[in-house]
Formats: sequence, C-alpha cells, structure tokens
Amino acid sequence: MDWFLECSDCGTQAEPIGLPTVCTACGRPWLVRYPDRIHALADRGQTAANGSMWGFRSFLPLTERDKPITLGEGDTPLFKAPRLAKHLGLDRVWIKDEAVNPTSSFKARGLSAAITRAVLAGATKFVVPTAGNAGVASAAYAARAGASVRVYAPRTTPKTILAQIVAFGADLVLLEGHIGDCGKAARAWAEESGAMDLSTLKEPYRIEGKKTLGLEIAAALGWGFPDVILYPTGGGTGLIGMWKAFVELRAAGWVSGSLPRMYSVQSTGCAPIVRAWDAGNDTAEAWVDPWTIASGLRVPGPIGDKLMLRILRETSGGAVAIPDEEMTREAAAATSLEGVDFSPEGGASVAAARVLAQKGEISARDRVIVFNTGAGWLYRDPAELLAERG
Ligand SMILES: *Cc1c(COP(=O)(O)O)cnc(C)c1O
Repeated sequence: MDWFLECSDCGTQAEPIGLPTVCTACGRPWLVRYPDRIHALADRGQTAANGSMWGFRSFLPLTERDKPITLGEGDTPLFKAPRLAKHLGLDRVWIKDEAVNPTSSFKARGLSAAITRAVLAGATKFVVPTAGNAGVASAAYAARAGASVRVYAPRTTPKTILAQIVAFGADLVLLEGHIGDCGKAARAWAEESGAMDLSTLKEPYRIEGKKTLGLEIAAALGWGFPDVILYPTGGGTGLIGMWKAFVELRAAGWVSGSLPRMYSVQSTGCAPIVRAWDAGNDTAEAWVDPWTIASGLRVPGPIGDKLMLRILRETSGGAVAIPDEEMTREAAAATSLEGVDFSPEGGASVAAARVLAQKGEISARDRVIVFNTGAGWLYRDPAELLAERG
C-alpha cells in the first residue's frame, strides 16, 4: 500500500497493516498520508466523481488491484440556491445535497471507505455505535460486502432511521442514553465477539471517504475553494475530511488560495465544540445530558475535538450553536424554497448562515456552502406534518 498512518496529534507514524484503530502512542485519531502519489495538473480535468466518490481514486486509500465496496455514494449535486440566499440576506449560497446518497445521508461516504478497507484486511463482522445515520450506512455497506453488523443506537433515535437499520439487515440493539453509552457497549461487544469497531475516528478510513465532500466541492467550483463552509458537526469526520481534502488539493497544486473559513454548527442542546471554541480552549469537555432532535449532532464527547478546534482556528472559521426550534424552522423553509429535502442538521447549517450574516462574519460577497447532510424524511412523522397543515 502506498500510504502510511500519522497521528493527528503527536505525529507518530505507523504502517497501515491489519485493522488499524487509533494512535498507539496517544490514542488520538490517525490521518492517512500518501507520500508517493503524484497528481499531475494534466490529470485534473479528467478527475471527477464519476457516478461515485471513487472517481477520486488517486486521492483515496485504494491500490490498483483493490475494488471498492460501493453503492454509488458521493457525486452529489452542489446547487446554487438563489431563493435560499435571498431568504438569508446573502447573495452567493450553494447547497451540497447529501440526502441523495445511498442510505440518504453522507454517512455512506465514510462507511463505504471504512468497510472497503476492513473487508480487504479480512474483516467479516462489524459493530458500530450510532446516533442514527451511521447505523443505516453500516447496515447497507455490510450487506453489500456480505458481512454482518451489530448496531447500538439510542432508543430515542427517529423511528424511520431505526427501521432503515433493520431493513438493511443489521442486528439492532437499542439502549437508554446517547451515542457515548452506545460506544461503550460497542467496545465491549467488539472484545467479546471479535467484530471490528467502525466508530467515528476509531479507524482512519471514514475520514478518507468524507474527504471526497471537499474534493467534489472544489471540482464543482472549477477547482476553486468557496469562502465559507457551514458544517453541522457531530463526531466531526466531515469537517476533518473536507479540511484534509483542501490541504491535499493545495499541496497537489490543483487549487490555490486560502482555505475556506470552516464553521462547526451544533445544537444548543449539545454543543461541546462551540463551548470550547467560545472559551478559547484547545480541547472540548464532554456535554452533560445532550439532547437535540438533530440526532446526528448528539455527540457529547467527540474524540476529534482537538483536531477540529485546530481546524476552526487555522482556517479563521468558528463555531455556532443553534436552538432546535430554529433549525427545524430553517429546514422547513429551505425545503419548500429550493425543493431539497432538508434534515434538522441541514437546517442548522442554514440557520448558522443567518446568524453569521447578522454578526457580520459572512458577507454578501462570500461564497457560502450549506450542507444538507441527510434527508428530512428520515426524521419526519407524516401524520404530524399533515396535522400541522390543519
Ligand atoms: C452524522 C451526521 C452529522 C454529523 O457528522 P460528523 O461527520 O459526525 O460530524 C450531521 N448530519 C447528519 C444528518 C448526520 O447523520
């Protein structure tokens, strides 16, 4: 394999043999490094997500012989959103619509990459703790690989998401508590059964899958960077992955200019990164009693905290917390204004644009990307929605 692993924190290096987890020296997440990859400028025009994210193969952890486990993830649209922009008092707003991925969220990208590498290393049994959508994606990609997966999810996860996990054939275990509690149960099960733990940042390849978000955005903008990224943040793989994409594209000489200002968007009911950012800290303390309807954001103690906070600082971005009512309202508005099916997490990204515009941190000149990270229908109760209509 023409890559190695480097600790995101202490810089320890390791060969990517077997099923790597976290840094053996300090326990922080690994990052994949590709010292031997050559990205000729002449290849840039031919590089695109061609029906899936694996079109960006030269930036991904795949050897010439390896075949990815794919359901056609990635290659999602980046829509210019003029009505949404007007609604927000901005001019240049794009929606990266991740709802159209297989399993209806961007978790498909990370799990396609993680399960591809793990199966190539011989894994046949998986386990994952989830706030919801990672469970659906793990179930689908395990099925695609002919492998089995056990999913630990909070009992309060939206019903439709839980039903999707079961439909794709996973062994679903419901627990009281949040994703942190599910993580403990998953680790115990991994030890007992030998199943591989697919938890966020507990293996290095989910980040590589999420990296394709950044590659696709740069390609869609004619190999340029936007000015602002508003990312609804749970465990943080998307934020870290996109930053890694931008850094790698600049190192390759494919895109020049300063990195987009990256903002972490969370719920006021679970905002460990926002709280740490506001306090000027470089690590985040776990949030006690996390609650938000945006289940993907209900991650009280992300292990990528230090790296995320560094990214927000280094890109001159920031962090914003949005109340649930506001993200719900903005998701509904964006859905009906643009015809894109916004999840509450996506609504948080939209709401953050308004908050930052009001604070003067983003202006009408800025090219702003809002993320619809998952499909709204996964969270909706049709009966309730129709009743509201009266
Ligand atoms: C998981 C998830 C998030 C958070 O993503 P991370 O990369 O873990 O920060 C946001 N939105 C949705 C819909 C999710 O499923």
